Amino acid sequence: MRGLVIKNTGSWYTVKTEDGRMIDSKVKGNFRLKGIRSTNPVAVGDHVVITPNQEGTAFITEIEDRKNYIIRKSPNLSKQSHIIAANIDQAFLVVTVNYPETSTTFIDRFLAGAEAYRIPVILVFNKHDLLSEDELRYQHAVMNLYETIGYQCVEIQASADADSPFSVEALKPLLADKITLLSGNSGVGKSTIINALLPHVNLRTAEISDAHNTGMHTTTFSEMLELPSGGYLIDTPGIKGFGTFDIEKEELTSYFREIFKFSKDCKFSNCTHTHEPGCAVRKAVEEHYIAESRYNSYLSMLEDKEENKYREAF
Ligand code: GDP
Ligand code: ZN
Repeated sequence: MRGLVIKNTGSWYTVKTEDGRMIDSKVKGNFRLKGIRSTNPVAVGDHVVITPNQEGTAFITEIEDRKNYIIRKSPNLSKQSHIIAANIDQAFLVVTVNYPETSTTFIDRFLAGAEAYRIPVILVFNKHDLLSEDELRYQHAVMNLYETIGYQCVEIQASADADSPFSVEALKPLLADKITLLSGNSGVGKSTIINALLPHVNLRTAEISDAHNTGMHTTTFSEMLELPSGGYLIDTPGIKGFGTFDIEKEELTSYFREIFKFSKDCKFSNCTHTHEPGCAVRKAVEEHYIAESRYNSYLSMLEDKEENKYREAF
């Protein structure tokens, strides 16, 4: 029987079968995944084969190949990692230009990580109602910057009624039939968005406190919420970004789309765009073809790489 893993509580996985049943399942035996040493062999988003047993539960006996997956590396347990989710179609990065302010550095780090994992990102600018005219002007400039680079941007007010032009209704067509990872700093409105899209379920807080009661670490818990309009939202408390641990210094340029474009004209193919003569990237920054904020984010990530700093959440 085939199914989709929609919840991971650490020891049990909830599998939604093709005929729509929810079956609590466990991993059978000790199967290892090629090349990955993780604390969990199965993750939400995995397509699996299960064998039901007498008790009404099932064993997971097979995992289908993944399109992608995101992991959280444990800096202490050197080679151990935890797979947060698999087969992600896209990420929504929820940001707010104020209340609280999301920095462009944070956005750029997230985008670079997403590029590394080849996960498309849509930037969701929330709390439209709270912004002054000046803040709105700033928001539109930021949206324009990212749209020019090639990232879709949406402006919403998660707290608005459905008939408002800024309500979460605007997100529904973007979510349809996709597995979407919902990310963003704390306080930007992720829970509010979930509750507006899924008014009849308020699972999130209940599940987290239940996890605490059983002494389980919240980071091992993850689930996909099925949207009435189709598609799934992955809500992973505590995960703010993609680990950039695996990004090589030399690869960094390719994760900044517009910097990558200009870098092809740099005199040296291994140009780091910091001090080299004939650097087309620095020239483009001077001539305002590349935004200074983007270039500075690139430099700060490069510096982290040089210092071998590990950042899990940006
Ligand atoms: P999370 O930490 O990302 O899950 O953020 P929450 O959904 O808990 O939202 C943080 C606070 O912002 C809460 O008090 C929400 O009511 C409020 N909030 C969320 N979205 C909006 C919005 O669009 N407008 C306004 N005015 N407040 C919002
Ligand atoms: Zn260069």
